[in-house]
Amino acid sequence: MIRLRDIRSKAIGQLKEIGSDSPGLDVDLLLEQALDLSPLDIMLEPDRQVSEAKEQVFQDLLRRRLAREPISQILGQKDFWSLTFKVSRDCLTPRPDSETLIEAALKAIPDRTKPLKILDFGTGSGCLLLSLMSEFPHSTGVGVDLSPKALACAQENAERLGFLDRCDFILSDWAEKLPSSAGFDVILCNPPYIGQSEKPDLAPEVHDYEPHMALFAEEEGRREYKRLAEVLPNLVAEGACVFLEIGHKQGVEIVDVFSKGGAKNIRILKDLAGRDRCIALNY
Ligand code: GLN
Repeated sequence: MIRLRDIRSKAIGQLKEIGSDSPGLDVDLLLEQALDLSPLDIMLEPDRQVSEAKEQVFQDLLRRRLAREPISQILGQKDFWSLTFKVSRDCLTPRPDSETLIEAALKAIPDRTKPLKILDFGTGSGCLLLSLMSEFPHSTGVGVDLSPKALACAQENAERLGFLDRCDFILSDWAEKLPSSAGFDVILCNPPYIGQSEKPDLAPEVHDYEPHMALFAEEEGRREYKRLAEVLPNLVAEGACVFLEIGHKQGVEIVDVFSKGGAKNIRILKDLAGRDRCIALNY
């Protein structure tokens, strides 16, 4: 037997050494998972005795974290908006920054009873699509992705969260397999936007564990916005709203791409850290 506090402090020290941003939180989440404890158990009972078998389960999870695997992938899930999503190496992990798109959509469309047709391009885990659908109970949704494995993940999330009867998932390179008269009321998209030159700056948790097709785009991260600017006008219903995630230094250039593509009323919106994160527009 070994005391919880001793396992905890040793593991925090090891994670500090590899440069984890949040060693205490990481360890607590792994302890909760391995020992089947609540956060309160960990806080209130530091002298709890842990069996060797349970400690082994924890050490196996810790070893993965020490190899820089992200906590969300070790736990297999990540919270986004008010929902919990299954995540894996096959899809981009939902990030709080992307909640900017959901907030913007809710602000633009105050009437929650609308039967919106929502499209999510590059749906990944399905986090944008399903979060917005959760706020509009009469909405229907289409999630598009170029990765069959990501689509399977989105579909599983839709099923777990009880939205499968309201949405479809389509394997497609942007609009290639969509009918051009689809007429969506809301289009969401978090495209790949990291330039190749930024690759060396990425944390190993991102670079080594997340799908590169969801992260990187040609032309210093601008290529997919140019392709989207060509197809979006054919997909929107009258009065539709489009919300696109952007890299925080890309705002001005991406506004230019879409204004040349005929978009109107283009606004740059900021994330909670005050950085440009979303472009909202209409056609
Ligand atoms: N926001 C992600 C990051 O900076 C990038 C996601 C993307 O390219 N869409 O890691």
